[in-house]
Amino acid sequence: MSSIEQTLSIIKPDAVERKLTEKIKEKFLENKLTIKNQKKIQISKEEAAEFYKVHQTKPFYDRLCSYLSSGPIVVMILEGEKAITLNRKIMGATDPKKADDGTIRKEFGISIDKNSVHGSDSTGNAKKEIEFFFK
Ligand code: UDP
Ligand code: MG
Repeated sequence: MSSIEQTLSIIKPDAVERKLTEKIKEKFLENKLTIKNQKKIQISKEEAAEFYKVHQTKPFYDRLCSYLSSGPIVVMILEGEKAITLNRKIMGATDPKKADDGTIRKEFGISIDKNSVHGSDSTGNAKKEIEFFFK
């Protein structure tokens, strides 16, 4: 049974700054995801705080929100068969040190906070996150 999904991807400030946008997009395309919509923007710390609200009790929350709003980001809607799980696989583990070979975070991530990409983790969050940036 086919299950075409959409998921939200963000190329984070560390990767945009290092001009890795095209290389990262290539990873999605070569893994059969298509980019349905994309824009380069910079968000405020307040917007980052809203976006990452699920993490508001975590010790890294304030740093995370400052970081995501620190420079331009590229937000994209990715679409494809099981896109949510597939994107998470292409991204690799949160900590680049633990990410599998060939993943974006392994190849491009600098540290657990500067890990180059965000990807939705569930159907519900994908819908919310796409609406956050594109509605
Ligand atoms: N993060 C961090 N320190 C941590 C855990 C997470 O700075 O100890 C940051 C990291 O940038 C990560 C984001 O918070 O991408 C969201 O964390 P999550 O656990 O949702 O990881 P992800 O879904 O991005 O793999
Ligand atoms: Mg997450």
